[in-house]
Amino acid sequence: MLSKTDKELIKKAYDTVKHVSEREFGNVVVAHVGVALRTKKGNIYTGVNMECKCDIGSCAEHHAIALMIKNNEHDIDIIVAVDRNGNIVPPCGRCRELIYQVTHNHDVNIIVLHSKKVTLKQLLPKIWEETYYKDVK
Ligand SMILES: [Zn+2]
Repeated sequence: MLSKTDKELIKKAYDTVKHVSEREFGNVVVAHVGVALRTKKGNIYTGVNMECKCDIGSCAEHHAIALMIKNNEHDIDIIVAVDRNGNIVPPCGRCRELIYQVTHNHDVNIIVLHSKKVTLKQLLPKIWEETYYKDVK
């Protein structure tokens, strides 16, 4: 069940991607997805994705998280990604791992539907650990 503030965060993510006109310049295409995250301090950070024609790019989560870090915060309370059509987009595997590596918190809330949020642990039961590679070396 989503709260009023959760629904406001969805709107913020949607407004973020709608605010940036979908455009192409050079070899870069931006803004198919917008993200809004709220920290435990109550601050909201947003980002949009970026894709290049040569297949490099970054998810909107990366840009919102980078902005949060730039502001000396790392405790995400809740995060949501929304596409241009207003659909909720659950984070990809790379972003799930990034959220954990930045927060070290499996209880981060992630909105996955317009009516449902889950914890990061539900989406990412096993996290990357440096010890995985100690046996390989
Ligand atoms: Zn991603």
